[in-house]
Amino acid sequence: MGDCIFCKIIYKKIPSQPVYEDEQAMAIEDRNPQAPVHLLVIPKRHIVNLFDADGAAQIGALLLLLPRLAREKNLADFRTVINSGAGAGQSVFHLHLHLLGGRPMHWPPG
Ligand code: 5GP
Ligand code: ZN
Repeated sequence: MGDCIFCKIIYKKIPSQPVYEDEQAMAIEDRNPQAPVHLLVIPKRHIVNLFDADGAAQIGALLLLLPRLAREKNLADFRTVINSGAGAGQSVFHLHLHLLGGRPMHWPPG
């Protein structure tokens, strides 16, 4: 687990109120939301980012959680962001999928 903040959340060392949880993954509200809905879908297994990912089934399951959560939040559309590496904006080095919605999104994302 080390100093990984998401591992601490997953293993309940830090209290959180998951929006969703199963054996493989958890979804939580981002603590610094960038949109009215801003969730983080986090695999329970510690994977640094997509460069570290190997299982198509696991990644597929994480992706399929996004439309499910978006529907639960009554979103007609949503944006998914997965930052891989510091230069791309990754600040927590445990894979997570951002789900953003509830406001117009612009392109390019910056
Ligand atoms: P990244 O920049 O790595 O793609 O995204 C990390 C995200 O995690 C950021 O949006 C940040 O606000 C969020 N975050 C960091 N630490 C915590 C935390 O302890 N709790 C929650 N709920 N979100 C966190
Ligand atoms: Zn971790």
